[in-house]
Amino acid sequence: MEHFDVAIIGLGPAGSALARQLAGSKRVIALDKKHQHGTDGFTKPCGGLLAPDAQRSFIRDGITLPVEVIANPQIFSVKTVDVETSLTRNYQRSYININRHAFDLWMKSLIPDDVVVHHDSLCQKIWREEGKWQVVFHSDGQKQHVTADYLVGADGANSLVHRHLYPDHQIRKYVAIQQWFVEQHPAPFYSCIFDNDVTNCYSWSISKDGYFIFGGAYPMKEGQQRFESLKEKMAAFHFRFGEKVKSEKCTVLFPSRWADFICGKENAFLIGEAAGFISASSLEGISYALDSAEILNSVLKNKAEDPNDAYWRATRKLRIKLYGKIIKSRCLTAPGLRKLLMQSNVAHIPLNINEPTCRDYTTENL
Ligand SMILES: Cc1cc2nc3c(=O)[nH]c(=O)nc-3n(C[C@H](O)[C@H](O)[C@H](O)COP(=O)(O)OP(=O)(O)OC[C@H]3O[C@@H](n4cnc5c(N)ncnc54)[C@H](O)[C@@H]3O)c2cc1C
Repeated sequence: MEHFDVAIIGLGPAGSALARQLAGSKRVIALDKKHQHGTDGFTKPCGGLLAPDAQRSFIRDGITLPVEVIANPQIFSVKTVDVETSLTRNYQRSYININRHAFDLWMKSLIPDDVVVHHDSLCQKIWREEGKWQVVFHSDGQKQHVTADYLVGADGANSLVHRHLYPDHQIRKYVAIQQWFVEQHPAPFYSCIFDNDVTNCYSWSISKDGYFIFGGAYPMKEGQQRFESLKEKMAAFHFRFGEKVKSEKCTVLFPSRWADFICGKENAFLIGEAAGFISASSLEGISYALDSAEILNSVLKNKAEDPNDAYWRATRKLRIKLYGKIIKSRCLTAPGLRKLLMQSNVAHIPLNINEPTCRDYTTENL
């Protein structure tokens, strides 16, 4: 049975960043459900917007984004829609519009060859025995078993590692639903939609490479009905749903308290969404995945006496920032406060072009 310093479960942005950073200093094995190339197998449903904090992480690592992962077009504002009051406002944003699957594969391709990577593989079981982590996974058509000093759960919202370490710990989970349509709008746009009748989180749309992606995060109960009812309402805001190309669904964490952020124990660590590191106000998670990987890399390289305690302390700033997002989310999803914010016109950029208003819209306009 092969032994490694570190076993990383999951190569989304968090796991890929950590595997790349640890290469050369530790013997690392990394397991990931996604294939190495192409669009077969597991793909992560995502809006594919790279926030400034994620861009900053790439700056620190001296990494530039290849054009193959960038989607068309780049959009500079988000149209915020409050369905109840019919208010819409435009706020400047500096996201990079990316193809999320291409981005994930590109991040995996940056992992140096001395890391043992198993693509298209599934970690099935983990446990701790005689001071080592035991990892059983399925790869290349067979069951395999390795051991490691350190185990890293970078396996996202449904983390096996999180469930193993904290079987009783529940973070609020929503179902994220996205549908892709052939783009029919005259001008591509991003939007962020609030409708408390449908969800106390939020919904969104993104134009990407000739498609119009419409999605949202909804309570698990009746998630699909809520999504469909919002789609109907959005016609009144000039949203055009062309030919449907695909539907995607996955679990997304929606942290609501300080205790939702959990970092690991007994030489096992959680990074990225597996640790609950996702913004409750925007569901933006790539930057926190990258930041937590960077923090864990330095903890493991510095050989702290108690690495779990060192990682917990080192993520304090990140956790405080994420707690701030919980408070922001409570403000944004409170109808009265949101109405006041939007009516204040602070940071709103009015359009110089004619956009039919909600009131003068009829289906014949489409
Ligand atoms: C619909 C939706 C839209 C989003 N839009 C955005 C956005 O626009 N911008 C943004 O910044 N964030 C967005 N997020 C959040 C973002 O996708 C996540 O926070 C981010 O992907 C977390 O990265 P991660 O590496 O922690 O986990 P993930 O990206 O979830 O990666 C985990 C990986 O682990 C692997 N895995 C899981 N279990 C196993 C197993 N048992 N064995 C082997 N491999 C395993 C899978 O291959 C998976 O790719 C969105 C989330 C959702 C659901």
